[in-house]
Amino acid sequence: MTKWILRCKECKNEWVLPVSFDLNKMKELYHYCPYCKKNTFHEPIKRLED
Ligand SMILES: [Zn+2]
Repeated sequence: MTKWILRCKECKNEWVLPVSFDLNKMKELYHYCPYCKKNTFHEPIKRLED
């Protein structure tokens, strides 16, 4: 499992998502935001080292 820092494009908060796939090639990710409490677009910021 890899962890990625995502930034929500709506509230601009950054949070960590454990994912089983590589987000390198993705410009954005539609996912549930724990701050907005709804699905929003997120920008992958960087991958965390294990
Ligand atoms: Zn948000």
